[in-house]
Amino acid sequence: MTAATIQGELGALLERGLSRRAFLAFCGAMTTLLALPPRYAPRVAAAVTASPRIPLIWLRGAGCGGDGEALLRTAEPDAVSLLLESLSVDYLEILMAASGTAAADVRSATMAAAPNGYLAVIEGAVAGADDGAWHTVGGRAFRDVAREVCAGALGVIAVGSCAFDGGLAAATGGTIGASGAGVVAGGRPFISLPGCPVNAANLAATFVHFLTFNELPPADLRGRPLFAYGSLIHNQCERRAHFEFGEFVEAWGDEGAQKGWCLYKMGCKGPEAYANCPAVRYDDGASWPIGSGQVCIACTMPGFWDSMGPAFRRLPPLASFVPWLTADFAGQVLVGGTAGLAAAHGTASVARAALRRRRAARARVAPAADAVPEPVVAVEAPAEPITPAEPNAPPDVAPAADMPAADMPAADVPAAEGPAEDAEDEPEPGLEAEAANPPEVPPEPKLEAAPRPKPVRPPAAEDDP
Ligand code: SF4
Repeated sequence: MTAATIQGELGALLERGLSRRAFLAFCGAMTTLLALPPRYAPRVAAAVTASPRIPLIWLRGAGCGGDGEALLRTAEPDAVSLLLESLSVDYLEILMAASGTAAADVRSATMAAAPNGYLAVIEGAVAGADDGAWHTVGGRAFRDVAREVCAGALGVIAVGSCAFDGGLAAATGGTIGASGAGVVAGGRPFISLPGCPVNAANLAATFVHFLTFNELPPADLRGRPLFAYGSLIHNQCERRAHFEFGEFVEAWGDEGAQKGWCLYKMGCKGPEAYANCPAVRYDDGASWPIGSGQVCIACTMPGFWDSMGPAFRRLPPLASFVPWLTADFAGQVLVGGTAGLAAAHGTASVARAALRRRRAARARVAPAADAVPEPVVAVEAPAEPITPAEPNAPPDVAPAADMPAADMPAADVPAAEGPAEDAEDEPEPGLEAEAANPPEVPPEPKLEAAPRPKPVRPPAAEDDP
């Protein structure tokens, strides 16, 4: 749907003062809250504006009525008006002028006039003790009325902690046999939005999801939608850093309270409560309990009045099987662990840098090491010309005719044994005699005919007179 089409279908609302900016902001917020990709925003806008007006029947069980008030007392009534325009709230007692049998007739007429079904919202607990006699509407047990309404509903939405699991009426000492709305859902699609009161943003997002996808959003095993109850409050809390640094409020009004430190020691149940309160907040994002300096009472958790109370009682040690593991100790461990990890990281960085320098030095030395054999070959080269059997003497070692016999290489001396060092040795007397008697050691003709390379004599031999 194009923006122009949306604009056209919003014409009636725009004429009543709803700004296009507010509408687009509402659709964008709902898309984000439902954890949908941004590309779904136009689809959400189209669903909110173009969907047939689905009738809504809002029943009120045993509760204080705070959930209906939470929806109607939002800071931005325009957005809620838009939503209510899409849903056609036909039965909501706190908005109706009729009462008694007249109100009951409206409810029956709504059910009969909705062949495609309607949405049912239940606020408050369902009284079950004494056959439902503790809560009656028009002379009938509320439990029976709720069952009748839910039977024809496209979906049943329980709002608030009392509709979730009975809430306060089901706490220790309760006498009405209170339970959550699930007992009257009758197998219809059911979802529960606990909270005391329900967060209106989550309720609006649930409506939008139904309008957009024609089904209720995915939920956990207790029927709570994952988009709103999938994360621990403690993990999203704005005071979490103070918890990890061991900075706690010790008494109401102390320095920690003024600085916004962690409220764990004051009884905060955020570490055990699942909800998106820190992200969504209440009253269109104005604030939330912990943001206002109060503790979280875990009102979204099952049986929180008993299991999480008293409200200002500090939670037991983090792990009951390790009684000495306190929040202080955990904070110190986290701080120490963070410092240790930082030190380890620094040490590893230094070691890596040293290793890189060493490898770079090796890379620079490697070419010089390859060049070492070259001078060695150059040193050994002078010994080659004195090899008698060398037929291809280099031009610079031409035979010398006047070479003395003593300087000539002996025939019985292998060429390999004629290094320059041998020429430095003084000739032994026996050798001199052999050199003086050629018949005893006749020189080979090959040697005489072969070109005699000029031996490269060391400087010492040349200087020897
Ligand atoms: S204990 Fe409470 S106040 Fe502290 S970080 Fe957790 S949720 Fe926030």
